[in-house]
Amino acid sequence: MVLVVEDEAALSDVVQAYLAKAGYATASARSGPKAVEMARALAPDVIVLDLGLPGLDGLEVMRRIRTFSDCYVLITTARSEEVDRLVGLSVGADDYLTKPFSVRELVARVQAVLRRPRAESGNASGMVCTFGELEIDTAAQEVRLAGRMVPLTPTERGLLMTLAHRPGQAFSRRQLMEAVWGDSWIGDDHLVDVHIANLRRKLDETAESARFVTTVRGIGYRMGKG
Ligand code: CA
Repeated sequence: MVLVVEDEAALSDVVQAYLAKAGYATASARSGPKAVEMARALAPDVIVLDLGLPGLDGLEVMRRIRTFSDCYVLITTARSEEVDRLVGLSVGADDYLTKPFSVRELVARVQAVLRRPRAESGNASGMVCTFGELEIDTAAQEVRLAGRMVPLTPTERGLLMTLAHRPGQAFSRRQLMEAVWGDSWIGDDHLVDVHIANLRRKLDETAESARFVTTVRGIGYRMGKG
């Protein structure tokens, strides 16, 4: 189920029609408060979230939804510079689209996030990896820092699990995207940096003080202290 949060009725209708044609059940909300209420009531798999909404702005909607759901969120915004601002805000969205967007592309992005492996629960080789204070349980998909559970979005968790699976190995942004999003990934590589920055913040580190996720200059990232 995809919840489409968009106050422009015509756009919302077109997006829903395309999603329905691609086989998804949809619901729609036209205001911020309604979006939060419906996200809670319907537990959608994906939320397509417009930032400019009446009642409550999209970022606040996002924050409230994140208190009870880790569903995928694809943000749509009218201004491309907005995306850069969002990078700094740690909003925990999984993807961004700038308006005007092609509805076809939006559907492709929804399909891409839903194809991502959520949890490797069928994987018997589940293990607990420890990096100093950081404990990653790959079977339970849980992450603890100094004993406290770290709440991660599905994307952040996917990135961390991928890196932790091969400590010390450098992954390119493209490799990480493919591991987390699948090879149908069609977005911009720099989104990896956005998610890594958010992940680092939750792990209490910065690029300069990296204890866990280390930047490998000219390549990408690897797990382990530099
Ligand atoms: Ca709007």
